[in-house]
Amino acid sequence: MGGPRAVPDEVAGPGPRLSAAGERVTRQRLLIAESLTAAGEQLSAQELYDRLRPDHPDIGRATVFRVLEALVSAGVARRLERSGHVYAYVACEPEHHHHLVCTGCGRVEEIGERLIARLTGGVARQHGFTIDDATLDFYGRCARCLADDR
Ligand SMILES: [Zn+2]
Ligand SMILES: [Zn+2]
Repeated sequence: MGGPRAVPDEVAGPGPRLSAAGERVTRQRLLIAESLTAAGEQLSAQELYDRLRPDHPDIGRATVFRVLEALVSAGVARRLERSGHVYAYVACEPEHHHHLVCTGCGRVEEIGERLIARLTGGVARQHGFTIDDATLDFYGRCARCLADDR
């Protein structure tokens, strides 16, 4: 067993993380980052735009899309693929990189690094490859959706 998970006492908000990644920090960028975090599920640019529009009619759809891409490059959000090649976005903590994505309800669960380390360790040994980074998203149905189907 490893020690306690290395989680900082205060996880930096989107502002510091954006500027650490060399991205501009603007009011609109913070608003979009915070809305995605508050949503707690994957949203397409269109869906996030629809949620923001009533209170923020000044934000255009193209802006939402551009900011989401900036959040992805800053590591504040991750891009997931939906059927039909539509992208969805989910807010992410800096440390973890793996998801279980429910295609039924849109919920996104995080997968602990320890489970994935076994897999990447096996791949590294078999291929003599040093893995610096891995991004794994598993698509399927969550326990709640499966229970609803019964
Ligand atoms: Zn995540
Ligand atoms: Zn589900």
